[in-house]
Amino acid sequence: MAGGEKKQSLSPKEIIHHKFVVKASYRIEQVHVSSQSNCLYRCHLQLPEFSVVSNVFKRKKDAELSAAELALEKLGIHPQDDDDITVEQAWDDMVERIKYIFSDEFLSSGHHPLGSHLRATLLRDGERHGSVPLSIIAAFDAKINSGCKVINPSVDQDPILAMSYVMKAAAKLTDYIVVSPHVASLRRKNPYPPAIVEALDTHGESIKVEAVYIQCATSGEEVVDPVILDISSGRYYLDVIAEKLGLKDGSQLIISRTFGKTPSGFECRVYSAIPKLNPSDKSSKAYGKRPADEEDQSSHFKTPWNAKASSACGQDIHGDAIVAAVGYSWRSNDIEHDDVTLKSFYRICCGMSPNGIYKFSRQALIAATLPFSFTTKSNWRGPLPREMLSIFCRQQQLAEPVFTISTSPVKPLSETLRSFKKLKDSESNDGNNQCVNEYAGSDDSFNHYNSKDEEELPVLESGYRCGVKILSKSLQDLVLDCSPGSFYEKESHAIQNAALKALTWFGSLFDDLDADPEQPRCYTKGQMNWMFTRNVMIKGKFPSSKRYEQPAYDESKTMDMDRKPKRVQTIPNGSLVSISYSVSVEVEADFWGRTGKCLRELIESNEEIEFEVGVGSMNPHLESVVTQMSVGQYACFITNMPAEGLVLADASDTARTRSLLSKLAAGLEYNVHLLGVKGPTEKRVESVFFKPQLSKQRVGYAVKLIKESSAASTLVDFGCGSGSLLESLLEVPTSLQTIVGVDISEKALDRAAKMVDSKLNKGACNLKTIRLYDGSILEFDSRLHGIDIATCLEVIERMEEDEAFQFGKTVLTLSRPKLLIVSTPNYEYNKILHKSSLYHSKDKSISQRSKFRSHEHKFEWTRAQFNHWASKLAKSHNYSVEFSGVGGSGNVDPGFASQIAVFKRKSFTEVKKVSTQPYKVIWEWTRAQGDKKN
Ligand code: SAH
Repeated sequence: MAGGEKKQSLSPKEIIHHKFVVKASYRIEQVHVSSQSNCLYRCHLQLPEFSVVSNVFKRKKDAELSAAELALEKLGIHPQDDDDITVEQAWDDMVERIKYIFSDEFLSSGHHPLGSHLRATLLRDGERHGSVPLSIIAAFDAKINSGCKVINPSVDQDPILAMSYVMKAAAKLTDYIVVSPHVASLRRKNPYPPAIVEALDTHGESIKVEAVYIQCATSGEEVVDPVILDISSGRYYLDVIAEKLGLKDGSQLIISRTFGKTPSGFECRVYSAIPKLNPSDKSSKAYGKRPADEEDQSSHFKTPWNAKASSACGQDIHGDAIVAAVGYSWRSNDIEHDDVTLKSFYRICCGMSPNGIYKFSRQALIAATLPFSFTTKSNWRGPLPREMLSIFCRQQQLAEPVFTISTSPVKPLSETLRSFKKLKDSESNDGNNQCVNEYAGSDDSFNHYNSKDEEELPVLESGYRCGVKILSKSLQDLVLDCSPGSFYEKESHAIQNAALKALTWFGSLFDDLDADPEQPRCYTKGQMNWMFTRNVMIKGKFPSSKRYEQPAYDESKTMDMDRKPKRVQTIPNGSLVSISYSVSVEVEADFWGRTGKCLRELIESNEEIEFEVGVGSMNPHLESVVTQMSVGQYACFITNMPAEGLVLADASDTARTRSLLSKLAAGLEYNVHLLGVKGPTEKRVESVFFKPQLSKQRVGYAVKLIKESSAASTLVDFGCGSGSLLESLLEVPTSLQTIVGVDISEKALDRAAKMVDSKLNKGACNLKTIRLYDGSILEFDSRLHGIDIATCLEVIERMEEDEAFQFGKTVLTLSRPKLLIVSTPNYEYNKILHKSSLYHSKDKSISQRSKFRSHEHKFEWTRAQFNHWASKLAKSHNYSVEFSGVGGSGNVDPGFASQIAVFKRKSFTEVKKVSTQPYKVIWEWTRAQGDKKN
């Protein structure tokens, strides 16, 4: 983007000093906040006419800076005003620059993009020969561009204004330049010396560039179609674009700033005709004379406003427009170009809104939505709200957001309630945006559809509170001043939530102009129930051992909609769920009566995506359905079609999808599979209660026993998950030569394979073979015959109880290890965990399930139950068993947090050999060959 280098601007304190010298006095006051161990500071700045008091800061410096900023705000001084060159100087510089641009020297010098334009115009015939469009001088020369900005900072938003300045400056060069206002171009008065013109390289290749044509409709939506720009050799590409738009030549074009990129990184611009002024409008005399008031500006133009093109590039576009990635560069005189497909155009449009930025970072254009609250960093996916707000402000030509932190209420409540305010944007064209939106500052106003049935979260009355201000780039207009009322325990949470509020506010403007920003995506429970009973089919979970069978429709395990018409949210807010899903466009079979086939096109799919329940980070239908499922279940439902642009931005076959959308599409069909759930508290409780974490302690316990069994050479970890035990065995020397992991989750095995691969050769182990099998531990594989050690940590509770027995029997009968270590949660210990305030959920709907530590647990046993299971197994297979555990103490009630049974083989009896190999090798490594298999 063209732009002048600016001198380093003065800081607010320096400006105050220049203005008032000794008459400005700063006084720092220490503020004690009881909850705070550190001291905080507030600054009083006394000036001759008035005084200001800053907010509270941790550093004195920040308090002073804030006071200086407040004072400047009162004085109406914008720090960047003072450091620029004067307007007169800017005019003089522009005149000089234009003279230079039309000099012989400039034409023959280097690869300035503007130079290439000049050369191209010299290849035109007739009266247009050497006639240079005003728009390109305004758009492609950095010096001109920065000069225009000094004269009026709003040129960024308004290319016509910049063109009018260029014309005005050129008009002072009557001896050199011919100004043709009616054709919006400049020409050199005296022809260039023939030698220079002849030396120009006239040869250029013919190219075809794909672009997008946005046809402006007087009523209704703009129509977007692909268009091919056929730039034959020797033609000026702007003339080709102009002709496509029905214009005589390139000088009738306005060129937008660059915005968005094609997939291979070329920047796009919008090309459109210079809009015709309404003849009845006497107030605007020349190009770019914009009405100073706030009326609907589009009435000044004969050509209608092009909403799609305008929102894509962030400038006002009138009439039909072409979006293309084509132009000259600094590298060569040749045209550089890339195709702008419909898909890339829609992706650019989508990425202009905060919601779009979030969707892209999640790679879930349809499934994801911008959350309405930020809880913890570990639950948040994609760039944090603060980063997203910065990205958004940069895209929209706004200044960096300014956050102000306060630690105690600074305003009376009545005032804080009037917190979100959008002030008038004096240069903005949109007549509707004068509205003053007021938000209730509390987070609770954002609660989603079922919040009314739940108790509200306690509202913090102290802590950190953060406001955010967003100004236009010129720092002249306040665009958004948002000071939510809520307090947060952590400063960073206050900032992230303030950023999120700002994003939500902008998002509601972008995504749905009619949306009530106070109630984003609000679905009532009734609507959700209706949707659910109509459209959702949850298919039964599959017994874990039968994963490979086709998903069967099992009557007994399918939700019976007649008996249970109400949805029951079984997964509480705050949980982290992981799903796989696909979304397809479907066209009803009847429409294609002849074939009777239903037409469908896959739009989006994700093998595994994790999200937090209750913050709105997933499309509400999807979230609502998922929170009623249990792990392993599948569901299928249909929703209405979202905006066409969104679907096209996502689809891989744009043309086919578009044709389907035009054919009475039945809706979007979602298929979702719930892969796993992590309770809201499980992780937190574990990390607060147990140091080191319980999972680490379990692995440590097993490793210690393994090290002690000095004669063991093979180990199998049943339900190895992501391989935490295998990892430890790579790091310590043991007698083991072969270690094997078995799991039913491909994802977990993938992670395990990656981990093992990265740790190979690093550790001190003597291992010769490592193998990962995909298979159910309820089945025996003859390759596991005669192993020395078997481990099974925190797995059995994920099966049905009878399956846990079956597992024990299979291992002890067929594998017959010398040592078997099994761990499982101790149910009795839960009462200690539940005493913690961390576990105090206000969500009554989960009372049943929250008995257990995880949603994935089918049971959790007391010590007596575990004892019964293990003793029975041991006895019938001639093993001894001892009980132990980790977390807490075994000697006092309620025992260890995680109970462990250690089985030892008493005698070796030859077992009958079964030959069966149901497991699939996923990954394998042997030291001898050093080879790996995937
Ligand atoms: N043992 C690991 C992982 C525990 S999580 C650790 O302590 O970190 C439980 C694991 O058991 C999951 O990875 C799950 O996929 C796996 N699992 C559950 N049922 C299984 C079955 N029938 N066969 C194989 N693995 C199973």
